[in-house]
Amino acid sequence: MRSLCLCGMLTLLACLGRGEASAQETAAEEAPRRAMVIAHLPPDAAKVLFGRESTPAAGPPQAIGSYERGCLSGAIALPADGPNWQVMRPSRNRAWGHPVLIAFIERLAQKLPGEAGWPGLLVGDIAQPRGGPMLTGHGSHQIGLDVDLWLTPMPNRRLSPAERDGISATDVVAGEGMDIDPTVWTPQHRLLLEAVAREPLVERVFVNPAIKRALCREGGPERAWMAKIRPWWGHNYHFHVRLSCPSGSPQCRGQAPPPPGDGCGKELDWWFTEEARHPRPSPPRKPLRLGNLPPACAALVAAPTGQARQLRGAAQ
Ligand SMILES: [Zn+2]
Repeated sequence: MRSLCLCGMLTLLACLGRGEASAQETAAEEAPRRAMVIAHLPPDAAKVLFGRESTPAAGPPQAIGSYERGCLSGAIALPADGPNWQVMRPSRNRAWGHPVLIAFIERLAQKLPGEAGWPGLLVGDIAQPRGGPMLTGHGSHQIGLDVDLWLTPMPNRRLSPAERDGISATDVVAGEGMDIDPTVWTPQHRLLLEAVAREPLVERVFVNPAIKRALCREGGPERAWMAKIRPWWGHNYHFHVRLSCPSGSPQCRGQAPPPPGDGCGKELDWWFTEEARHPRPSPPRKPLRLGNLPPACAALVAAPTGQARQLRGAAQ
């Protein structure tokens, strides 16, 4: 059971990446990391090619490939401001997504005050304009169907661009990761996560194991929605919402549905073992090259050989 469980975990780890971009990392902190990453990557690294694109690819909306190995055409941007949301870290230019996800976020944000007593969403990273791997953070977020939402309630005023790039999200976990912080966690956090997980388009919601533990404790008797709430490393400042493949994207590769049941009990207990809390470091993964993505993704960035020459020239 343990080894099976661990094997599944490692597969998931490869899919999602333990080192997700921190919701609280500021744009200023991210910039030098981005420059260092570029300096150490081959010129045809997919994260370099997709990270350079600042506009979406024209054409019908298509999520191409899988969450951790794919790209996106026909993306649209979530407006920086809406009635019940504000886009954070705007300088990252990662508020692009499949139109189905963008419409979902807008609809969700508007119903949350009434349904969960949650005043609105602070929206973190969605995807790059053409999807693909990112220069910093995130193993997934590549096909415009993943979004990070802050665990900080939206304030009742519009934040300035400088505030959006600089302020920190709220850490709701304490006790060295063993449980939520009771001075920060509120009933509205639970209602928010429940409202999201109950959405039919949602395939999975990733949260810190301590948050899942709190939901297991606080959830009511009808808890089928809890199957979609999946524990993962990090995710103590934000949670990650993943939608299923939308219609009209035949090349989109979704995931198997989560196992039935609420995911509490033994499955959750593993996350609080030494093995899970302090996993042995794994060797660094080789960066994805353009050729590792679905062939249709190559058409979304400038010809790789030309780009490679340009990049080499620029580096000399
Ligand atoms: Zn995420």
